[in-house]
Order: sequence, then C-alpha cells, then structure tokens
Amino acid sequence: MEEQYRAIIQALGENPEREGLLRTPHRAARAMEFLTQGYRQDVRKIVNDAIFTTSNSEMVIVKDIELYSLCEHHLLPFLGRAHVAYIPDGKVIGLSKIPRIVDMYARRLQIQENLTQQIGHCIQEVTGARGVAVVIEAKHLCAMMRGVEKQNSSMTTSMMLGVFHDDPRTRTEFLTLIRRMGD
Ligand SMILES: [Zn+2]
Repeated sequence: MEEQYRAIIQALGENPEREGLLRTPHRAARAMEFLTQGYRQDVRKIVNDAIFTTSNSEMVIVKDIELYSLCEHHLLPFLGRAHVAYIPDGKVIGLSKIPRIVDMYARRLQIQENLTQQIGHCIQEVTGARGVAVVIEAKHLCAMMRGVEKQNSSMTTSMMLGVFHDDPRTRTEFLTLIRRMGD
C-alpha cells in the first residue's frame, strides 16, 4: 500500500522525496490500515461471551455512539452518530460491546445504508432480541468537500427489525427517546 500511495503522490505532480512527504506513504498506509481494520475483526471475538441472561424485557438504548467510516465511492470519511436499541428476549449484551460492533462495521469501505443494516442484523443475531433499531446520522465529506450537493451532505438512515418494525408504538418510543436524550 505504501508503494501505491507514493504513486498517487507522484500522479498529483508532487515530489515524494521532499522532506514533508518522505514518510507520508508509510503514514497514509498505516492510517488506511487502521481505518479498515473492521475487515480483520470477528464478531465472536468482540462479543467474547459477554451475553447475559435477563428477565428484563424493557428497551435497552445506547445512543450517540461516535461513528467514523469511509464511503466506498470516494474513500472519503463520513462521520456522525449511531443510536442503537433492542428489546431483550432473555439475553442482554455487555453495554461496551455495541459501540465495538458499530466500529467493526464502520471501519470498512461502506455506504451508510449498508452500515446501518449490518449493525442491525448483527445485534439481532447476537442477542436474539425481540427487535432491534438502528439510526445513523452522518455527514459525508465527499459531498461537503467537493462543493457539490452540500445540502445533502447530512443523511439519516434507519433499520427497524422485529417489534420495532411491526409495532409503530415501539418505534415511536425509540425515536422519541433518542430525540429527547439528544437535546
Ligand atoms: Zn462518497
């Protein structure tokens, strides 16, 4: 990857040998490796048996999870917040695991819609919940920095599974809670 970054710098008409750029291919490759480390992670290792039995059947919400990803069309960042909720069916997942699942999927080349769905399906599968809801609000640098479609640079996507899909009251409760808590 370092070689490829060197070639890109050259293609820009820059001199990859000048002092400021000398170690840039190395740094850029390490950075890209970090930003895409989700490809090399495994849900089972992240969850690591942090699944606990519970009699609680009330909605669990983790909101305002910081989110950084790369759009697969331009390799530019999109960033924002994810809100995740589920309704347990006898099992809960360790609270710190949900942001780590979000990160695992975010640190790949993504489009926001797929990212939202992958997080939702994963949490559904891991917890066996009665329902899972995911809302992502993000700003896309590919729209903001290129000076086109600036009005569309912010996007909200959602994924509703199980009771969140079937029962409008549950869905409304979730959406009301993330709005209220976000203030
Ligand atoms: Zn893009």
